[in-house]
Amino acid sequence: MDEFELISRYFVRSGEARGTIIGIGDDGAVLQPDGGRELIVVIDTLVEGVHFPQDIDAADLGYRSVAVNLSDIAAMGGCPRWMTLALTMPVANEQWIGRFAEGLHAAAAEHDITLVGGDTTRGENTVVTVQITGDVAADKAILRAGGKIGDTIFVTGTLGDAAAGLELSSLGQADEYLLGRFLRPSARVRLGQSLVGVASAAIDVSDGLFADLNKLLAASGVGAEIDLASLPISAALQSSFDANAQRRFALSGGDDYELCFTAPANALPDTGDTRVTAIGKVTAGNTIVCRLGGDIVEFADSGYRHFND
Ligand code: ADP
Ligand code: MG
Repeated sequence: MDEFELISRYFVRSGEARGTIIGIGDDGAVLQPDGGRELIVVIDTLVEGVHFPQDIDAADLGYRSVAVNLSDIAAMGGCPRWMTLALTMPVANEQWIGRFAEGLHAAAAEHDITLVGGDTTRGENTVVTVQITGDVAADKAILRAGGKIGDTIFVTGTLGDAAAGLELSSLGQADEYLLGRFLRPSARVRLGQSLVGVASAAIDVSDGLFADLNKLLAASGVGAEIDLASLPISAALQSSFDANAQRRFALSGGDDYELCFTAPANALPDTGDTRVTAIGKVTAGNTIVCRLGGDIVEFADSGYRHFND
């Protein structure tokens, strides 16, 4: 089966898609944005051995490669619309591609986005790049730069689960719930949209809360004080690690794809089923001060960096 048969069998979906004039099959996709909306473009690459283990289930990989991009759209308050996929693989194993496509389309269907093009190539390692275009009302995108002194700092969901899940499975003690948080993160797309006009700044937590909150604070030119006792920790993480390790995972474990945002304390919208926790305040400083009880706890972490060697 050649490249073109693979594409039409596994990646083309039939049916009309809103705002898609020409999808897969031509030299480029032709898209129709809605009037008065601005476009948001995000892209993320997942490399075998760097972002996912070689033995990952292809369906999980497909799901995750979409979810990490949806999370960036969510952090801007956007609505995801169209997606492209660049897929590099050492061999065209149809069963693998079928599973991959299943996970990819499952994540896309949850948010009603259309795969409108891509590129398929042979290479030594599996590399997946997904690009998503979203939209948002003009001038309403939530930026990292809007945090104000006195705002409350919130996070969605629970923190540290994905990193803990990976660590446990590397020790041969896989916890299904925690590993599931790594394999199939729930991008907070609807919640992100409900924060438009409410949150002063937002970022998604991909490198760990401490590192990502630092990026938001730097962009906003402010500091923060956070209360470590208030960090939202799942029951699964609590039952697998002691309090210190829980805090370490929550502060520096990456891959959670939760949102961290700042807003005036009384401005929180209805967040539906999604847990939202206040963890601290924006201050006039330029660092993150961590408190536990009355004490200040030293913590430093700049998150994962490629080429940092
Ligand atoms: P070109 O050579 O003009 O770049 P290709 O022959 O590479 O086009 O691709 C043919 C069509 O299939 C294009 O519309 C392209 O966007 C689409 N396509 C290729 N690979 C994928 C993929 N993995 N997923 C979705 N669409 C793809
Ligand atoms: Mg062409």
